[in-house]
Amino acid sequence: MNAHDPYEISLRTDNGNQFDIVVVGSGPSGVHAAYPLIKAGLNVAMIDGGLDSQRQSKELQEFPDAKLTKSGHYYGFVKESSYVFNKTFELLPIKSNIDIIQSLAMGGLSEVWHGICDFFSENELLAIGLPPDEIKREYKEISKLIKLNFRTPLDLHSRLLLAKAKRNIQRENSIYQAPLVFPYRTSSFIEKLKQFKNFVYIPNQSVYRVKEKKDHVEIQSFSIDKKDESIARASFLILAAGSINTTRILLRSRKLYNFKTSFLTKANYVVPCLHLSSLGKKNDSKKSRYGQIVISTKETDRGADSFFIQLYRFNPLFLHKALQYVVLPKIIAFPLLSALAPYVVIVDVRFPAFESDMTFCKLKKEKGKRDTLEIFFKETSEELLRHRMEYDKITRQLWSLGLVPLRTIIGYTTSHYAGGVSVDKNGKFYNSRRIYVADSSSWKILPAKPPTLTIMANASRVGKNVLKIFK
Ligand SMILES: Cc1cc2nc3c(=O)[nH]c(=O)nc-3n(C[C@H](O)[C@H](O)[C@H](O)COP(=O)(O)OP(=O)(O)OC[C@H]3O[C@@H](n4cnc5c(N)ncnc54)[C@H](O)[C@@H]3O)c2cc1C
Repeated sequence: MNAHDPYEISLRTDNGNQFDIVVVGSGPSGVHAAYPLIKAGLNVAMIDGGLDSQRQSKELQEFPDAKLTKSGHYYGFVKESSYVFNKTFELLPIKSNIDIIQSLAMGGLSEVWHGICDFFSENELLAIGLPPDEIKREYKEISKLIKLNFRTPLDLHSRLLLAKAKRNIQRENSIYQAPLVFPYRTSSFIEKLKQFKNFVYIPNQSVYRVKEKKDHVEIQSFSIDKKDESIARASFLILAAGSINTTRILLRSRKLYNFKTSFLTKANYVVPCLHLSSLGKKNDSKKSRYGQIVISTKETDRGADSFFIQLYRFNPLFLHKALQYVVLPKIIAFPLLSALAPYVVIVDVRFPAFESDMTFCKLKKEKGKRDTLEIFFKETSEELLRHRMEYDKITRQLWSLGLVPLRTIIGYTTSHYAGGVSVDKNGKFYNSRRIYVADSSSWKILPAKPPTLTIMANASRVGKNVLKIFK
């Protein structure tokens, strides 16, 4: 081991292992799996990529990574926070037909998330493979802990749309204000956790393999800046590296190269709409902390097959991106779009994802290179048809709300994903005794609603299941 190796830290456990539990990842799943264990006094280490906004270099501000995405998309909306996914293109390589956002930052993707939440229905939880009663209990605790807010002020668009929806009672769908948690960054939560003497945060590590031994788990990693290898030992391991990277670590650890496993992401239609009732009205100031209204189905017999729609105002920062969809010279299109922008509402329609032969991932070993995760996503013809029919109905409802669709963009840039790994009812990895999974890699379906509140609730449940072993 190297003299300055962070793994030389040991919290000295009763059985001589370096740590009671190692958690890999510091996003919403890692932090909420770790919290009950730390609170109970167990020795917990969190091993993480840990890239930090404080250490953002000049070079990063130029956003070189974005150019590397296969389809050439620029992640304009997270540009300013590029440290969040810097190095992922190099250290966590993906070959995919869609753009996938991953993170090696302290706090993971929560550093840029929008904080829109919703509770999954009993049917959705059952279809994912989660116990509804336990998750409902966790929802209550997590909502309190992260200060979920049900009454964030709404902007002009949302107020007008809600008022119109009330007058024009919709039978099939309901339109309501989604609970929001803003600002919530798990990196701030980690700062609080650092005050516990039985917790240590170990950044700058990329975990690549885990090995289960008789009485401990070995976690092998290399430092991101120097590439030195290290090994940590813990009685139990909780993987929370985001579903793609937990899957990657486990496939590699079990030498499952070329093995097709599930990858779930949502079909997503983005529809900029002209909001007629807002024309000529002055919208609120540039305040960013607005609540968001959403539309979901009222039909309770639909099981987990429900769409979810988020409605948000057009962000002027997207103007340059929108230009590519206008068939007019830029000199005319730009002022036209700038004038229309305050009256545009973005309708973001998402459909749930189910396992299918058309959507999968597999780890490829390439000689002399890093292993690459190959991801393929395509809707089946039945899904395409179902989504199209559903979208036609949704469009009718948009018109009835005074929203005139300007264009339908099928957007396949995703940060909502799941699947890849099998676990038992406690969250323990298939055929293992000491490895648990806290993120959405264990999910069998991905509902259309925003997933992170449920990711946190499940992670907390998994952390408590590990705690029971020590009691
Ligand atoms: C712009 C944007 C907006 C979003 N808005 C919403 C929203 O409004 N509502 C919602 O519900 N969701 C939203 N999301 C999605 C949300 O951020 C994710 O669902 C959530 O962060 C997933 O949490 P996680 O802990 O599973 O994974 P992540 O947040 O991805 O965290 C993974 C962690 O693992 C670490 N890691 C990964 N690989 C390794 C490795 N090999 N070795 C060591 N460490 C590793 C990383 O450093 C990171 O800390 C949004 C995402 C983005 C990008």
